[in-house]
Amino acid sequence: MFSVEEAEKAIAAFPVTVRMESVPLRSAHDRFLAQDIVSPIAMPEFDKSAMDGYAIISRDPSPSFAVIEVIAAGIPPRLAITPGRCAKIMTGAMLPPGADRVVKRECTVEENGFMSIIAEDANDNIRRRGEDLQAGQRVLERGTRLRAAQIALLASLGLAEVPVATPPRVGILTTGNELVAPGSPLGPGQIYDSNSHSLSAQLRETGAEPVVLGGVADDPHSTERAIASGLETCDVLILSGGVSAGDFDFVPAAMKKSGFTLHFEKIAVQPGMPTVFASRGQQAAFGLPGNPVSTFVIFEIFIKPLLLRLLGHACRPGLQPAVLAAAFQRSRAERTLFVPVHVAAGRAELVSYHGSAHLHALSRANGLLRVPAGQNAIPAGSTVDVRLL
Ligand code: AMP
Ligand code: MG
Repeated sequence: MFSVEEAEKAIAAFPVTVRMESVPLRSAHDRFLAQDIVSPIAMPEFDKSAMDGYAIISRDPSPSFAVIEVIAAGIPPRLAITPGRCAKIMTGAMLPPGADRVVKRECTVEENGFMSIIAEDANDNIRRRGEDLQAGQRVLERGTRLRAAQIALLASLGLAEVPVATPPRVGILTTGNELVAPGSPLGPGQIYDSNSHSLSAQLRETGAEPVVLGGVADDPHSTERAIASGLETCDVLILSGGVSAGDFDFVPAAMKKSGFTLHFEKIAVQPGMPTVFASRGQQAAFGLPGNPVSTFVIFEIFIKPLLLRLLGHACRPGLQPAVLAAAFQRSRAERTLFVPVHVAAGRAELVSYHGSAHLHALSRANGLLRVPAGQNAIPAGSTVDVRLL
């Protein structure tokens, strides 16, 4: 059995190639940059007014200034400013030649074509060419996930196409004769398939492309056929269920028969011990125990980092410190444990949790408390590691 760290290492050793494509800016939200972005222009591109006001020469002692033109944003000034003259200027408009200061409107009065300054304005109210960034400057790094702020920056630089990582296609196969799709009535002994839904959502949140390949009957041939067909279109396969010691658990053997090398078949982790990781050339496959919290946790802890590597993202989801609100205790400590907690203002509260099928507990949590192998008890008030969800 692999420790959590050994399992993480085995997955980290899987070689990845980040594929790249170019997408229109409007489709780039939440995607990962595949190349550094260098600004093609300076920001601002020209000296401009930061206020609605009047452009003057700062050392001009004139008691009043003839208004020689009105400069709107987007229209270049026609006239230079000379002593005794000013131009009425709007926010974002180009500074006229000769001017080196804008007096904001609130500090002035204008009468009969002449402006007088009636209050002190301490600022020059000019945004200088290149003060935010220079042309040729690297502004975003490869691997960055493009959120709204980064999208705004790219648009402001005039970039209409963005080089992004092609999301890995991840096939989801759900084994289990007892599974019924939500929306259909349950027969005796049946349950709803939640894993294909949680995995799809987790894949989307990660930035990968879920490919729901459907349910697989609990028999060796169906499992092998489903794996073979998934391999035709997917980079990674995730199989839920069928990995433990039951009479109807055929996934590890089917993976082997499909040409996969199994790197491990068990991790000293709770939940999710019978997790399988396998590879076949450039393709990887995971077999996850079917209990829904196990599937969820194993994806978060072990699969997500691999997918982020496939997306060229350097950061791994890390552990955050939090103060444990109440004491935690367990009778056996052989495995690293992940338990649902709710974290607020740096304090982690354990949610009432009955085990790896208890999705309601997970739905009320926003983090997973990590209890290291070998640790039985954690006193209240201790600083603990939480993986935020
Ligand atoms: P298994 O790993 O196949 O032995 O399944 C372990 C438990 O998880 C059983 O109680 C299954 O009914 C349940 N289970 C398996 N697959 C799913 C699924 N896709 N959605 C919800 N529960 C599942
Ligand atoms: Mg099963």
